[in-house]
Amino acid sequence: MYRDILDKASEGRGLSRDEIQELLSISGTKALGELWETAYNVKKEQFGDKVFTYGFVYFSTFCKNNCSFCYYRRSNSIDRYRKTADEIVSLSESLQDSGVNLVDLTMGEDHKMHADNCRELVDLVRKVDSAVSIPIMLSPGAVDESSFAPFRDAGADWFACYQETHNRKLFAERRIEQDYDRRFDQRTWARKYGMLAEDGIMVGIGETYADVADSIVQMGKQGCEQIRVMTFVPQEGTPMSSSVQKSREDELKVMAVMRLAHPDRLIPASLDVEGIEGLIPRIRAGANIVTSIVPPHMDLAGVAQKDLDIDSGRRFIDNVIEILEAEGCRVGSNNEYGNLLNTLRGRSA
Ligand code: SF4
Repeated sequence: MYRDILDKASEGRGLSRDEIQELLSISGTKALGELWETAYNVKKEQFGDKVFTYGFVYFSTFCKNNCSFCYYRRSNSIDRYRKTADEIVSLSESLQDSGVNLVDLTMGEDHKMHADNCRELVDLVRKVDSAVSIPIMLSPGAVDESSFAPFRDAGADWFACYQETHNRKLFAERRIEQDYDRRFDQRTWARKYGMLAEDGIMVGIGETYADVADSIVQMGKQGCEQIRVMTFVPQEGTPMSSSVQKSREDELKVMAVMRLAHPDRLIPASLDVEGIEGLIPRIRAGANIVTSIVPPHMDLAGVAQKDLDIDSGRRFIDNVIEILEAEGCRVGSNNEYGNLLNTLRGRSA
């Protein structure tokens, strides 16, 4: 009975894989309302009313891979860009000045940046680290283990690499010609070399509730300090362009169950799926981070949606703060975020 499982989660008694799957299968307004309310309360117990904000610089849209769900897959004939180091530094500085707690440097698997043991990328992280005092997250795709110590030494605090699914068969169909284990190892290596790690899954790419339950268990076991879920958005020019997008409810359900299964992890609400309209429902489902804050008019793309709400400035920090405060949340300070990272590092040491 779902109510008993929710009570168990509220009391901090953990959830089994089967209980996770049972919560994922609930439906109906009353049951879902109780799920979201429980997740929100668990989030408040762990993190109070604080929410942290991440700025996003998608600095290269070149990619050697061909993921079936992705707009930036190599087979898609689109205009691509690669920002210069100076541009990336200046974007990172303006994000810091705007008040975000972290800058997320994201790229496709760009050959140029991966060449020579990621020499150019390491250099870039070093330059951004010298220019800003807020933490840096690096999302460069799958790289060799030998790159992790240089990333850490250059100043990267976080390494993000999303598996998207922990079902190997589905992984092979979606992340075409990529190695499941190598991708999984990225987060293990990041943590081994003293960085914090993020994993993520996608809903709407052919997964079952059993798959999602397995993912939630796997993410917990691997120890990633930040875990996320995002809804797949069909992309023009890809094999999945005519797939049907799942409802917001599916993502919120997974998010809430993640929060109950792993109360102490950071869980992002991404603005990249529904734009600013999707922020508060995600916070109410247990998220405590807002990601994909993008400065307007900088010719930067999003990942799930290349331009949703970006140039209107609706995804910029002032608007996000106003909406969060109206909801009774408080944007955490850089000091508070730094303390949180120290706690997380202490836990994983
Ligand atoms: S999801 Fe990432 S690795 Fe896959 S095609 Fe898109 S940018 Fe490349």
